Amino acid sequence: MEPEATTAASENENESTRLDFVRQIVEEHNRSGRFGGRVWTRFPPEPNGYLHIGHAKSIVLNFGLADEYGGGTNLRFDDTNPIKEEQEYIDSIIEDVRWLGFEWEELRFASDYFDQLYQWAVKLITNGKAYVDHLSADEIREYRGTLTEPGRESPYRSRSVEENLALFERMKNGEFKDGECVLRAKIDMSSPNLNLRDPVMYRILHAEHPRTGSKWRIYPMYDWAHGQSDSIEGITHSICTLEFEDHRPLYDWFIDQLGIHHPQQIEFARLNLTYTILSKRKLIRLVREQFVRGWNDPRMPTLSGLRRRGIPAKAIRDLCDMVGVSKSNSIVELQMLEYCARQELNKTAPRVMAVLRPLKVVLTNYPEDQVEEFEAMINPEDPDAGMRKVPFSRVLYIEQDDFMEDPPNKFYRLAPGREVRLRAAYFIKCEEVIKDADGSIIELRCTYDPTTRGGDAPDGRKVKATLHWVSAAHALEAEVRLYDNLLTTAYPSEMDEDKDFIDYLNPDSLEVIERAYIEPTVKGAAPETRYQFERLGYYTVDSDSTPEKLVFNRTVTLKDEWAKVQKAGAAK
Ligand code: ATP
Ligand code: MG
Repeated sequence: MEPEATTAASENENESTRLDFVRQIVEEHNRSGRFGGRVWTRFPPEPNGYLHIGHAKSIVLNFGLADEYGGGTNLRFDDTNPIKEEQEYIDSIIEDVRWLGFEWEELRFASDYFDQLYQWAVKLITNGKAYVDHLSADEIREYRGTLTEPGRESPYRSRSVEENLALFERMKNGEFKDGECVLRAKIDMSSPNLNLRDPVMYRILHAEHPRTGSKWRIYPMYDWAHGQSDSIEGITHSICTLEFEDHRPLYDWFIDQLGIHHPQQIEFARLNLTYTILSKRKLIRLVREQFVRGWNDPRMPTLSGLRRRGIPAKAIRDLCDMVGVSKSNSIVELQMLEYCARQELNKTAPRVMAVLRPLKVVLTNYPEDQVEEFEAMINPEDPDAGMRKVPFSRVLYIEQDDFMEDPPNKFYRLAPGREVRLRAAYFIKCEEVIKDADGSIIELRCTYDPTTRGGDAPDGRKVKATLHWVSAAHALEAEVRLYDNLLTTAYPSEMDEDKDFIDYLNPDSLEVIERAYIEPTVKGAAPETRYQFERLGYYTVDSDSTPEKLVFNRTVTLKDEWAKVQKAGAAK
């Protein structure tokens, strides 16, 4: 860090120096005319799992960039490994990119280019730049050498062009078994960059491909497929994560050998979040071994899980903007995502009253058959949302937490002999506590003051607390699912290598409340409808809901932990 990089100095910087480094590169290309002002990006997921919030960062960057510079973005499936890829994943990725709020110019598949890639491989062989190698995978690894030791050349490296062409054709025709031979680029076995030590271009896989069926028995490796696919599509800026930095010389080498359109590969830091696994390999295990209820379990960091949990797409986009684009890896506090969710939900979520752990309250002086309706704002942050009507009657539920028989100092809510306000309704006073044979509190007998209708006392007397409530006769029963972090450790990268990550799963990541009570406004709400349960948090209707019983997911509580984290950070 430069110590002289003060706030004052950065405020004086002009517009272009405030751009992130990717945008600076793009602006430089636009100035120099390298791509004639064209900005075309791609988002290239491998369909071997569902998209997660790390992918969102790449999506927001790729689509956002192209949009800002009047270009476009392709969605390209990197479907080069038929063993791990499935149509289910393709469908979910399409749905999730759209849900996040982006639309591609063209939908492509790397497999669309298998013929072209094959022809280009033949060209490299013809030019003496590729050869068929019969070393085993282990031998290839051994011959490759290490960072401190140069590699050794394969004994098959000096085969003639004719022999290589014939063998490669036989590879294509399926005449060899899996692993029997590979096609390698002929570059430099003593290169300091291991990626340039004759990388494998094709391997043999006798596997059915979801799109090309059994046509191909050889499949291109990532490095061979990726840059060439970018080139074919006229991609200008091929943005990937930092671990591909060392692959860039290879990316460039292939394209230079072929003399085709040359995109610029740019690497940026991946998104990491505390308490969050962002490795598809691990996420697949959670699903397959049923530690969660599927890819879209609300505890999963997948886009479909976050959606089901109730996190708005806007909050995810905002998080990506806040985190920004950089060259150095870092870990973002999960609370920052929750902060973004709260910001958005506060503006958009209708308010309702819900009681999660009910305590019965009987208003002994309220007429038996009387029902009143109180008006409350649907959303005080959005006056246009209008008003809702909340029924009130003699028997109510309040939250168990809002009553204490023997309250300590600073507990200002309901207690014997004490008066509180019921939100938008009346002042009530606790007169008597009813217990069962075990001594558990089962009911409060209270009185209400009719002169406080609407929530204020004409004599000006004050109460210290306002509680939420529901009318027992009118409330809907609902199941409510409360979630906690899936992991017990904030820093997944620091998990003990000798341990299975499963050992770090939080056994209490899900708590189910079988019977909560919610004001009737929510009746018939569709899955993914989001509410603020007043004083509690944001809750979203789950797809497990039935016409008889709604199921809600807690999206986030109201408590802003992020502000605390920021303060703690500033104090350091
Ligand atoms: P995994 O290693 O878990 O399988 P991946 O990175 O291989 O993930 P891809 O489907 O290849 O997954 O990713 C598609 C794009 O999303 C790539 O360009 C990749 O760099 C990017 N991406 C994946 N994870 C992250 C992340 N955590 N932050 C930013 N970008 C990411
Ligand atoms: Mg990948």
